[in-house]
Amino acid sequence: MADHYEVLGVARDASPDEIKKAYRRLARQLHPDVNPGEDAAERFKLVTHAYDVLSDPDQRQRYDLGGDAGAFGGSGAGFGGFSDIFETFFGGGAGGTRAGRPRSRRERGQDALVRVDLTLGDVVFGVHRDIEVDTAVLCETCQGSCCQPGTQPVTCDICHGSGQIQRTVRSLLGNVVTSQPCTTCQGYGTTIPYPCSTCQGQGRVRARRTVSIDIPAGVETGLRLQLPGSGEVGPAGGPNGDLYLEVTVAAHDVFSRDGDDLLATLEVSMIDAILGTSVTIDSLDGPVDLEIRQGVQAGDELTIRGRGITPLRGEQRGDLRVGVQVVTPSHLDPKSRALVQELAKRTRPAPPHLAEFHPGLFSKLRGKFKR
Ligand code: ZN
Repeated sequence: MADHYEVLGVARDASPDEIKKAYRRLARQLHPDVNPGEDAAERFKLVTHAYDVLSDPDQRQRYDLGGDAGAFGGSGAGFGGFSDIFETFFGGGAGGTRAGRPRSRRERGQDALVRVDLTLGDVVFGVHRDIEVDTAVLCETCQGSCCQPGTQPVTCDICHGSGQIQRTVRSLLGNVVTSQPCTTCQGYGTTIPYPCSTCQGQGRVRARRTVSIDIPAGVETGLRLQLPGSGEVGPAGGPNGDLYLEVTVAAHDVFSRDGDDLLATLEVSMIDAILGTSVTIDSLDGPVDLEIRQGVQAGDELTIRGRGITPLRGEQRGDLRVGVQVVTPSHLDPKSRALVQELAKRTRPAPPHLAEFHPGLFSKLRGKFKR
């Protein structure tokens, strides 16, 4: 960071008066109102900071001994010093409100967030919901005017409607005028002699209301649906904020989701796997017939087209995919056991043997289908 003496263009033993003069000269030259360039604003900050430090005897001594009170944004004489001096010299206007412009009571309302719990079935087809929202609504009594019916705001006696109080302050640069929000009317320029008794002069009241919404198919947990203008009404009847619905989809006992597809496990007995069968399964759409081919293998995937989820943007539904899990009987009565042994004699199945590892086998059964 530049040396404060160099920034002000003064000697290290400059008197307080010389420092003050140097600062005045530079401030007149670099002040943003006079010199709107980016460089000038940057230099003005440096100059102001240098002046803040060197004009204070304690800080100057510390600086001379090698310890600066800190660069901008640090403690003490940082950017705060900048804007204070700025306003003292030039009458506010550091981007804030200028004299003669009262602020409005009407402001935009806040956004509201409501959580919505959905089932997977709701997600497949979309669902209509009536949602209770507890927010500010327009006060029926005063319609947002904040005044008792039949009365009106009156011009503030103190600031005469400008919303600002101006004060003349003596400073380095001579007499300057500062302005600050009027404390009597809080800068509104008017006061309300008879505030509406329903809303205590807020122009809005808290109320519970019902919002009807069609939640589209395909949403997922964490998604936020925005309903513009359905949030709370603003102070003094200002425009509504937005309403956001944050969706949570409950886990389903059977089905889980993979993109637009639905996944489930189909447990097939060893006998059905050997002989093949047909079965009716309960999909989220209702019953669906499914053929299980003779000799189906554990880990095979059966696809039922178009019985998945309707995407959020689009019409083409995903698929319902079921992974076959073959269930082997864990106990057989002696007669059944004898029959299986008879079968073994007839078919002479290959003894257990190692084969190439298929990574899909375990991930399909344990990972995908056991979620
Ligand atoms: Zn009211």
